[in-house]
Amino acid sequence: MGMKSDIKLIDDNGLRIDGRLPNQLRPIKMKVGVLQRADGSAYIEWGGNRIMAAVYGPREAYPKHVQEPDKAIVRARYSMAAFSVDERKRPGPDRRSIELGKVISEALESVIFVEKYPRTSIDVYIEVLQADAGTRVAGITVAALALADAGIPMRDLIVGCAAGKVDGVVVLDLNKEEDNYGEADVPMAILPRTKEIALLQMDGDMTYEELKAAMDMTFEATQSIHKMQIEALKRKYMEVE
Ligand code: UDP
Repeated sequence: MGMKSDIKLIDDNGLRIDGRLPNQLRPIKMKVGVLQRADGSAYIEWGGNRIMAAVYGPREAYPKHVQEPDKAIVRARYSMAAFSVDERKRPGPDRRSIELGKVISEALESVIFVEKYPRTSIDVYIEVLQADAGTRVAGITVAALALADAGIPMRDLIVGCAAGKVDGVVVLDLNKEEDNYGEADVPMAILPRTKEIALLQMDGDMTYEELKAAMDMTFEATQSIHKMQIEALKRKYMEVE
């Protein structure tokens, strides 16, 4: 973010390097129920991102000292495969993935009825197989599907999406080049029914008006992503085995 470069991110027709309009999402595909052993699972392709989510629980929290007497704990682990980016990523947890695990856990906990399952843990594994910017918000979106597939009661199906600013233009859903060379990136997670914000981060700089425009774009996009989530869930449960 904010790396100065000569790369032109918006052309003379106002289109982005991948041909999108400023308020256009990348193509998104979702599939629910892709793993046999997990209690719930889902897979998402979002632009160049390929992400798998698996949910285990609610199950007795282990080690015992992490148990909460009046609610379930939600532990999301975000992990990027060594082959998920151009430059091989060193395997294992790093500062960034620990931070992402923490913010994703908090966002997911805010929608789960955790008080129904005291002393348990709900473990959410987010495995990024291919990364192209926006993995934390795509990870939240696919985790919501895996949680629903696991039958975990939630207030809403949470949706993640980002917006930001490139070449002075507010744009939706930044890709890798836009994330690298743009001016700002604002990942968000929204509860589509109430429009509550469960996650809001900002990398880079933008004015208040630009931030407001970026947030409005995200609010609108999360409504359509939410419809795709519902369709993906319906597909799984209407499948003839
Ligand atoms: N990235 C990378 N190597 C890393 C971390 C990130 O190549 O060690 C890339 C990856 O494509 C990622 C993008 O940079 O999606 C943006 O990363 P950021 O930290 O902004 O998180 P994200 O946008 O994926 O939520």
